[in-house]
Amino acid sequence: MDGAPPANSGYSETPIDVSGLVCWLARFAELIARDRGRLTQLDAAIGDGDYGVNMDRGMAAVVARLPELAGEGATARSLCSGIGLTMISTVGGTSGPLYGTFFLRFGAALGDVIVFSPWQLAAALSAGLDGVVTRGRAKLGDKTMVDAMIPAVTTIETEVASGNWSTALARGARAAAAGCARVTPLVSRKGRASYLGERSVGHADPGATSTVLLFEALRDAVAPADGGS
Ligand code: ADP
Ligand code: MG
Repeated sequence: MDGAPPANSGYSETPIDVSGLVCWLARFAELIARDRGRLTQLDAAIGDGDYGVNMDRGMAAVVARLPELAGEGATARSLCSGIGLTMISTVGGTSGPLYGTFFLRFGAALGDVIVFSPWQLAAALSAGLDGVVTRGRAKLGDKTMVDAMIPAVTTIETEVASGNWSTALARGARAAAAGCARVTPLVSRKGRASYLGERSVGHADPGATSTVLLFEALRDAVAPADGGS
């Protein structure tokens, strides 16, 4: 994918800009704050019980920095680099560095642009996913955030060609939720939850659950509300 829309697609009329990314992160922070208790409960069941608190603390730190990061001269790369580094230093745990890597790679893929196309956004999501997989080495079915992220990103990449951006993002969010649900009955094979072996069966993975929120936030913030299905 080279980020170039096919001729007559209509996408050239619907660019996304840095302020759309700011809305995405602000919405993600809202959803994390809303579900903070639930995320911590999930982590208490199969991890060390710090997940909701850590993610909420990190996302509050990101939101506090957004005005400065999106200020004069900001580009997609500079904004996302600030977001990624803030997540690495404030979320902590395993997820902080993984989400941080996602945003560093996502921003680097978009580059020093202010406005970009849905194709470029989809390609950047894919680069972010590659960063998470390279760093965490989790595979589909290991029951991690990757089990929500891979279906979300591949769905968005495929659907972007269908010509309806908001439908692509709505389907991406649904694919993330389906991916998260698919691995709930499985044994966790990565991170702290893997120490529980069979006892992790039947518990939703906290990281996969927050990744569903990441893609629901993207759907809510970036796509125009046209009821895409
Ligand atoms: P911990 O407290 O165990 O250091 P967190 O609570 O920050 O970690 O995050 C736990 C989440 O991290 C898990 O629910 C899982 O989705 C994700 N995770 C753990 N290991 C990996 C990995 N190797 N690759 C991708 N995601 C992982
Ligand atoms: Mg934890």
